[in-house]
Amino acid sequence: MLDHLAFSAPEPKRIAGAREDWELVIGLEVHAQVASNAKLFSGASTTFGAEPNSNVAFVDAAMPGMLPVINEFCVAQAVRTGLGLKAGINLRSAFDRKNYFYPDLPQGYQISQLYHPIVGEGEIIVDMGPGVARRVRIERIHLEQDAGKSIHDMDPNMSFVDLNRTGVALMEIVSRPDIRGPEEAAAYVAKLRQILRYLGTCDGNMQNGNLRADVNVSICRPGDYEKFIETGDASVLGTRCEIKNMNSMRFIQQAIEYEARRQIAIVEDGGKVDQETRLYDPDKGETRSMRSKEEAHDYRYFPCPDLLPLEIEQAWVDDIAATMPELPDAKKARFVKDLGLSEYDASVLTAEVENADYFEAVVAVCADGKLAANWVINELFGRLKKEGHEIGASPVSPAQLGGIVKLIKSGDISGKIAKDLFEIVYTEGGDPAEIVEARGMKQVTDLGAIETAVDEIIAANPAQVEKAKQNPKLAGWFVGQVLKASGGKANPAAVNEIVAKKLGL
Ligand code: ADP
Ligand code: MG
Repeated sequence: MLDHLAFSAPEPKRIAGAREDWELVIGLEVHAQVASNAKLFSGASTTFGAEPNSNVAFVDAAMPGMLPVINEFCVAQAVRTGLGLKAGINLRSAFDRKNYFYPDLPQGYQISQLYHPIVGEGEIIVDMGPGVARRVRIERIHLEQDAGKSIHDMDPNMSFVDLNRTGVALMEIVSRPDIRGPEEAAAYVAKLRQILRYLGTCDGNMQNGNLRADVNVSICRPGDYEKFIETGDASVLGTRCEIKNMNSMRFIQQAIEYEARRQIAIVEDGGKVDQETRLYDPDKGETRSMRSKEEAHDYRYFPCPDLLPLEIEQAWVDDIAATMPELPDAKKARFVKDLGLSEYDASVLTAEVENADYFEAVVAVCADGKLAANWVINELFGRLKKEGHEIGASPVSPAQLGGIVKLIKSGDISGKIAKDLFEIVYTEGGDPAEIVEARGMKQVTDLGAIETAVDEIIAANPAQVEKAKQNPKLAGWFVGQVLKASGGKANPAAVNEIVAKKLGL
């Protein structure tokens, strides 16, 4: 049972402002919008930012007599997500009605999966820096409908309802309370988002509300969590509060930090934490109560009579499994092992799947992982970041960057000239090899020409020559002069060698 602590236990550290030792226990319920063109139970479009109430089928608007029809693609996406989180897939799941009234939910209930979710137990390995990883268990993933949106700030006297989001498919991904600190919670969301984006099952655009998290936080005494792991008895843990609907990793961290301090202050003053739902106010940097356990809704869940239990076949699951992409951990390990990258470079390049794809396309052209990594991370990313571009909008294609790196590798151009070449390709476009040819940027390895240049510099600087003979370190000055005279095109290694020879060093 202790095996999920195998990676590393959290550093025991006193939480700021606390008089006694406390530890944090955190569990996340993440709502991830399924990447799908159509909704979970209708053919209406899911396009973000469409004209209000334009993406609404009759069933989304709960017109009398309309029946939901399950979207097979959304089910496949949930299965793919489950497989990506090494989770068990339930061949039989079922939909339930979660009843509540809200103006942006015209049915009066949300169709969800309470009792029989489609995906069972899985895990996420959360990276916490070089060599440190934590395993967070996934309890379940279920499919459910999103609600619409009420808009209260368009008119002083009226509220408006936009049903475009009503019925859009969500995956609710529920973690066990295995997360032990604010940074770990943010890292968990980041890793989950990364995996979903690799899988193509959720766009993970947090600003658009594509990925939102309910964050459950409690505090306990050192040792209590280990007791919980050993016995599975959650009652040894503290009472939790749930912070609703967080859509920023920074706010998740801040909210947890605030909530931990709040709960500790209550308990250290002899009070008791009430189980409640809270909201985070980013402007004030604090959470405030939304409703207590006593006010909690009774949703009167019951099996949805409009939908048959969802039965899928193992062969269909196997087909999906056969088309799984390489996931971030595997890709990162391969970049380190096969391409010789550092852990750090491999992390940077695998953070977003588009970056990894771009990098691999560069390597395919130049056949040098390390050099390619250098150029992609330092030159390209640096330049794109400065101009606020995503990799998709890069003016330099992988073929072009690969071409530049190939010219460096073959010794045709020096690293310094390569930067000029990169600038030309970035701003003007064109084929790197042709540009080098046409503009005479090739590195001079013609030893005769270099020798003449060295002779000239030596002849012109007799005093420097005397000094350099006393102090060989000064040879560098001659190398610099020759490189400068050649406009950066002379091969530095050849210049070094010839200068040393001529000075008799
Ligand atoms: P419920 O059955 O009331 O929905 P669950 O046990 O399913 O509650 O937990 C919901 C979420 O709360 C899960 O993500 C879980 O990890 C988390 N959670 C449960 N107990 C705690 C706790 N003591 N502290 C922090 N998070 C918790
Ligand atoms: Mg639950």
